[in-house]
Amino acid sequence: MAEEKLQRLEVVTPERKVYSEDIRFVVLPGSEGELGILPEHAPLVSALKIGQVRVQHEGKTLKIAVSGGFAEVRNNRVTVLANAAEREDQINLERAQAAKERAEQRLASGGSDIDTARAEAALKRAINRIKTVS
Ligand code: ATP
Repeated sequence: MAEEKLQRLEVVTPERKVYSEDIRFVVLPGSEGELGILPEHAPLVSALKIGQVRVQHEGKTLKIAVSGGFAEVRNNRVTVLANAAEREDQINLERAQAAKERAEQRLASGGSDIDTARAEAALKRAINRIKTVS
């Protein structure tokens, strides 16, 4: 049987390397919609929104929560540079639930000192982490 073609996926944040493997297929949360990337994809640069990177590797699908950033595809290499990223097994569910409640309370309070965009972004990050583990 011919060997399956693979591509390198690297997910990094300013703080750490989250994932680095040769994989078959990955779906990225592009700012304009999901991007499915197979080996030998054309070069591409895209902004990412808060969402999940879904990786097919060794017959399993792995989810990585990312909090926005950029992706570059070039020479059979997919690089995700994310503001923050966590694999499913790295997510602290209680922390994400607490962050969600905090953000919801801020938004509900409607005070003039609330940075609404910031609270909405925090809420999206928390919901994304909760979805990624559940
Ligand atoms: P919190 O209010 O709980 O800090 P946040 O959305 O403001 O959440 P970020 O600024 O996105 O947090 O991330 C800061 C750091 O904390 C990053 O390294 C990120 O990976 C990590 N992190 C945030 N929330 C979680 C979580 N629920 N589980 C594991 N790591 C987390």
